[in-house]
Amino acid sequence: MENSILQEISHINDAYKIAEEQLNKEMKEYSILLRNKYRRNPKIETWDLEELKEQFGAYNIYIINSNLKVIKTTFAADQGLDFSDSPGFAKLLRKRLQGDSFTVDRFNISMETGKIKKYSYIPTHDNKYLLELSINVENRYPVLENLDVFADAKKIQNKYKSVEEISFYKFNPDTEEAAIIRNNKKPYINPNISDINEGFVKKTFNSQKIQVKKSPKQNHVSKYIPAIVQEKATASDWWNSFILKIKYNNQIMLNEIKAKRNLFLINFVIMIVVFVTFIAIVIYLLRQFRQLAYYDQLTKLVKRESFAEKFADLAKKNDKEDKKITILFLDIDKFKEINDNFGHNIGDMVLKKIALRLKNNLPQEYVISRLGGDEFTIAITDIASKKEVKKEVSKVVSSFKEPLIIEGSQFFISVSIGVSIYPDHDSSLEGLIKKADYAMYKAKKQQKNYVIYQK
Ligand code: GH3
Ligand code: MG
Repeated sequence: MENSILQEISHINDAYKIAEEQLNKEMKEYSILLRNKYRRNPKIETWDLEELKEQFGAYNIYIINSNLKVIKTTFAADQGLDFSDSPGFAKLLRKRLQGDSFTVDRFNISMETGKIKKYSYIPTHDNKYLLELSINVENRYPVLENLDVFADAKKIQNKYKSVEEISFYKFNPDTEEAAIIRNNKKPYINPNISDINEGFVKKTFNSQKIQVKKSPKQNHVSKYIPAIVQEKATASDWWNSFILKIKYNNQIMLNEIKAKRNLFLINFVIMIVVFVTFIAIVIYLLRQFRQLAYYDQLTKLVKRESFAEKFADLAKKNDKEDKKITILFLDIDKFKEINDNFGHNIGDMVLKKIALRLKNNLPQEYVISRLGGDEFTIAITDIASKKEVKKEVSKVVSSFKEPLIIEGSQFFISVSIGVSIYPDHDSSLEGLIKKADYAMYKAKKQQKNYVIYQK
C-alpha cells in the first residue's frame, strides 16, 4: 500500500508540473517585461505598480532592494517586509539578486492560510533590485476556492476515528529546521516542533520515503509521507515540498474493519488527485479562452488586439535602435467572387491558405494578423530605409505568385497592399493602419500591387 501511495504522489507531482508550466511561462513573460521597463526607467520609486498589476491580471508585484527589503509592492501587508530577518531565505534571495536569470518556485502552500501560491524572481540588469511576482492560484482560478487540501484532510480525519492527527510539515535542509505548518487542531502552528518529530521529518525529507514512527505504549502509529517533493530537493527548493504526517491510534485502527483501515489513505490520495486534475482542467480551459481572445479561429493568426500589443513591444525596441517599422494593410482582390462562385466554405479555405502562405513564406519576425474579412495586417521590424521597405513588400507580393491549391483546384490570388511607416507617418498603430488602409485603397484604384502612403 505504501508503494501505491508513493506512486500516487509521484503522479500528483507530474500533474502539478504540467499545470505549473502555464503559469511559469506567463510569469516569465511579465518578469522580463518588468526588467525591460527598469532598463528604460530605472527610477523605480516612480513606477505605478497598481497600473502594472492591472495589466498583469492577478499578479502581485514586489520590488526588493539590495538589503532584501520590500520597498514597494501591490500587496500592502508586505510593504516594508525585511527578508534579511530569515537567514536561509535571505541567502537564496541574495543569490537570485546577484544572478542574471529568471527563477520561479513551484506551487507553495501558504503557511498562514493553506492557499496555494506561486512566486517568481528576476534581478534587474544592474542587480540593484529583485523583481518578484506572486500569484494566489485560487484568486486567479476562482473555481479552486472551495478546494482546500487542509479542509479535506480534516474531513478524512473526522471520518475515521483511528486518525488522530493529519499534519503538514516543512523542512529546510539549509538550516536543518523543521516546522509544522498545519494540522487539524490549528490552521497555523508555532514553527517549533518536538525533537522526535523533527528527526522523522528530516529523515522523510532526506530519504523521500515513508517513515513510520511507533509509540507502542500509547498505541500510536505515525506515518510521515513525502509529498510534492522534487526529484532532488536541495537547499534552494525546500519550501516547494512538504511532509504529510498521519497519526493514528493503532488499537482503534485494529478494531476497524481491515479493508476500511487503508481506506482513509486511499481517499486522501484520491482527493489530492482530483484537486490537481481540477487545476489542470481549469488551466486548460483558461488557455482555451486565451486562444479565443487572442487568435482568429479560422486562420489561427493573431487578432487585432494582440497585434496591437506586439506592435507596442516592437515600437519600444525600434525606438531605442532608431529603426522603423513598416505596416502593411493587405486586402484580397475580388474575394467576393470566390465566395459567390465557389461558396463560403471554399472562401474560408482560401483565407486559411492565404494565412498559411504568409506564415510560411515570410520571416518569423514578421507579425501577421487578420484584421477581419479578407483584410490582413503585417508588421515588419528593423527597417532602416525606404529601399528596404520596397524589398520587404515585394517579398509579400511575390508570395502569391504561385496559385493556392484547394481541393485540387488552382486559385490565383492577387492582393492590394497599402504601406505606412512608423514613426514617419504616425506614432499610433491606429493612425498607421488608417493610413495604410488609405494607401491600399489607392493601390486598388490604380491596380498596383502596393502603394506607400504619402503625407
Ligand atoms: P476588392 O477587390 O475591392 O477587395 O473586392 P472584394 O470582393 O475582395 O470585396 P471586399 O474586400 O470589400 O470584401 C471582402 C468580402 O469577404 C466580404 C465578405 O463577403 C467576405 N468575407 C468576410 N469575412 C469572411 C469569412 O470569414 N469567410 C468568407 N468565406 N468570406 C468572408
Ligand atoms: Mg477584398
